Amino acid sequence: AGEVSSAMSVNIHVNSPNVSYTDTHIVAQYPYHTTSVIREGNNLTVTPKTTEMTFRTEKRVPRLGVMLVGWGGNNGTTVTAAVLANKLGLTWRTKTGVKKANYFGSLLQASCVCVGSGPEGDVNVPFRDLLPMVHPDDIVFDGWDVSSMDLGCAMERAQVLEWSLQEQLLPLMSRMKPRPSIYIPDFIAANQESRADNVLPGTLAEQVEQIRADIRDFHLSSGVDKVIVLWTANTERFCDIIPGVNDTAKNLLAAIKTGAEVSPSTLFAVASILEGCAYLNGSPQNTFVPGAIELAIQKGVFIGGDDFKSGQTKIKSVLVDFLVSAGIKPTSIVSYNHLGNNDGKNLSAPQQFRSKEISKSNVVDDMVQSNPILYQPGEKPDHCVVIKYVPYVGDSKRAMDEYTSEIMMGGHNTIAMHNTCEDSLLASPIILDLVILTELCQRVTVRPQGEEDFQSFHSVLALLSFLCKAPLVPKGTPVINAFHRQRACIENVMRACLGLPPQNHMLLEHKLQ
Ligand code: NAD
Repeated sequence: AGEVSSAMSVNIHVNSPNVSYTDTHIVAQYPYHTTSVIREGNNLTVTPKTTEMTFRTEKRVPRLGVMLVGWGGNNGTTVTAAVLANKLGLTWRTKTGVKKANYFGSLLQASCVCVGSGPEGDVNVPFRDLLPMVHPDDIVFDGWDVSSMDLGCAMERAQVLEWSLQEQLLPLMSRMKPRPSIYIPDFIAANQESRADNVLPGTLAEQVEQIRADIRDFHLSSGVDKVIVLWTANTERFCDIIPGVNDTAKNLLAAIKTGAEVSPSTLFAVASILEGCAYLNGSPQNTFVPGAIELAIQKGVFIGGDDFKSGQTKIKSVLVDFLVSAGIKPTSIVSYNHLGNNDGKNLSAPQQFRSKEISKSNVVDDMVQSNPILYQPGEKPDHCVVIKYVPYVGDSKRAMDEYTSEIMMGGHNTIAMHNTCEDSLLASPIILDLVILTELCQRVTVRPQGEEDFQSFHSVLALLSFLCKAPLVPKGTPVINAFHRQRACIENVMRACLGLPPQNHMLLEHKLQ
């Protein structure tokens, strides 16, 4: 983990009559404050409400196994290599000096939260120290890929990490080999066919059985306590929602038996859910057809997604949040991307690009809808997304954005941005945050006052929205894209687990006479 991270780690003990520490749990009594609003014409009646809740967090951190679908891809190899490099405390030379492994870009490992203030002012602690959670160094990886290349060669193929680091990692990475996977050519671009030399035979039902057997095999042979499965394979085309095929859990399971159209990512989701393993989707396609969601709810298994929110969209969810909340009206958002990695190659096919376009398109909706002064009902800024494949730039993705807004008295403001960044080094820390947060959520239960039993979070784990471009939320609940609201949600839920009030930023203690 490196000296820096361990030197900074802290133990937090909450000193409150509402918080108790048992051998196994942290138990916090928590007043959850909300306000309900009744509107009559222009008159709003706003009523504060308090619901007493008990949050219970299991303290024992399990040994976590993560199985990646698309393990041999740029993200799969980069995240595996990065964890190894951190675990071994590796350093490597580049032309600008010696670099040391770190987890920059991870919300949990590399960002801080303020727990309060002491004699020396604000006390900021690493997010990961708020509650007991898995450290990425301790994650054991396994996975599948339709390409048989071992992880050492696949890391070289990805061209993401510095060569002097790759050289140190090669002997370890080369020992890892992806398991054969489900390949249905129609779902990904035709240009991927040449890589697909590691594919499962058999019917859909037999392939799902094999994936389930792989999960059990990894679970047993690696000695991990739990397994989470995450899709970081190619973007698939969208799949139609067909009544009788994928609209209910029962129909979906039957469709797998009869061999109807079910995407590989949905087949993986079904296999994971049936094994009781959380399943996360890092790509934009609609893996979570209604039948898959229903199955997860029936089995009480977490699912989360969709599509890692790593670069351009993350900036969008910050910038539009800033503009709209400052009373400035974005009217046109135009985003160009070009990239040269295998993801870009796959996205150069129209149907796969379409999945990405859809995923990127709704990201400003909640922010726009939150301001009826600027936008009439149904009004939205023009929003256009272009993605082009340019092999030469490799994993170093370029994103160019132009935001035009209306300002006071008919004036205009145009912000143009150019962003260059290794895509997989942005996505890898997000993969770690996704699995670690999901694992934490599996150990948190909540009991609202008056109820007998502790409940888990809903199977559709909306808490992961911060990490996803197109957040999956339970039916009928609000989708939040705005960056700061998403981050505050995670921070405040964790604070609730410790019986601490939400961060209010009032700093009244410094504002009164
Ligand atoms: P990649 O093409 O390098 O890796 C994908 C891997 O999946 C390849 O090795 C491919 O052989 C494998 N694969 C394809 N179909 C498979 C299947 N059915 N089963 C198992 N393996 C399969 O791409 P990447 O750059 O690692 O990105 C992975 C995914 O993450 C893409 O869908 C991309 O759109 C998404 N994503 C990436 C980022 C980012 O910043 N890197 C951000 C958001 C989303």
